[in-house]
Amino acid sequence: MSETETLPLRAAIVPVTPFEQNCSFLWCTKTMRGVLVDPGGDLPRLKQGIEKAGFTVEKILVTHGHMDHCGMAGVLAKELGVPLEGPHEDDRFWIEQLDKAGAQFGIWGHVFEPDRWLKDGDQVTFGEVTLDVIHCPGHTPGHVVFHHPESHLAVVGDVLFAGSIGRTDFPRGNHEQLIASITQKLWPLGDDVTFIPGHGPVSTFGQERATNPFVADKRFG
Ligand SMILES: [Zn+2]
Ligand SMILES: [Zn+2]
Repeated sequence: MSETETLPLRAAIVPVTPFEQNCSFLWCTKTMRGVLVDPGGDLPRLKQGIEKAGFTVEKILVTHGHMDHCGMAGVLAKELGVPLEGPHEDDRFWIEQLDKAGAQFGIWGHVFEPDRWLKDGDQVTFGEVTLDVIHCPGHTPGHVVFHHPESHLAVVGDVLFAGSIGRTDFPRGNHEQLIASITQKLWPLGDDVTFIPGHGPVSTFGQERATNPFVADKRFG
C-alpha cells in the first residue's frame, strides 16, 4: 500500500465507568500522535490502552459535560501534561458540578477548566489529522460532535445512538433541539459516515436514517 492510499486516522474504543461510556482513541498513523475523546474514568485502563495502541497523546477532547464523559478528563490532561479542548461553553454549568455529580454515583468527578472551549465550525488538530467541530445541543446545551470528513467518521457522544437518541430530561435538555441537531447537522455529513456513540455499538448515519425509531426519515416524510 502506498502512503497516499493510507488514511492517516485510526480509532479504537475503550468503555469506561459503570455507565460503559465509550472513550474513543483517535490517532494519526503517520505521526503516531493522537487524542482521547471523553476519558470519563478508569484511568489505569485508559493508560494501558494508550500503551497498547502505541501513540503519543497530544490532547484530550470532550464532547459534553456529563460525568461519565469527562469526570476524569481534567485529571488525565494534567497527568499527561496535554491541553484539554471542548466542549462548548454552554456546558460550563455541568462541568462545575462534576465533583458533586460523581459523589452521587459513587465515582470520582473533578471540575476542570478546558484550555479551549469549542464553537460550531471550529477545528481541532492532532498529528496530521484535522477534525471539524459541530455544535449539537439538545442532550446538553454545549454538546459538540467531532467529524473527520476524509475517513467518514464521527464521534457523537450522547447525541445519537444505534437505534436511539440522547436523553433530554436533564436541566437545559431540549428534545426538539436534539432532533434538529441530528437531522439538520449530522445527516448532511452523509449516509456513509460511521459514528462512535457515547454508549453501545457503532452505526452509520444511513442506518439510523433508515431504522432509528426517533429520527428515521419516514417519521418526518
Ligand atoms: Zn450525556
Ligand atoms: Zn453518556
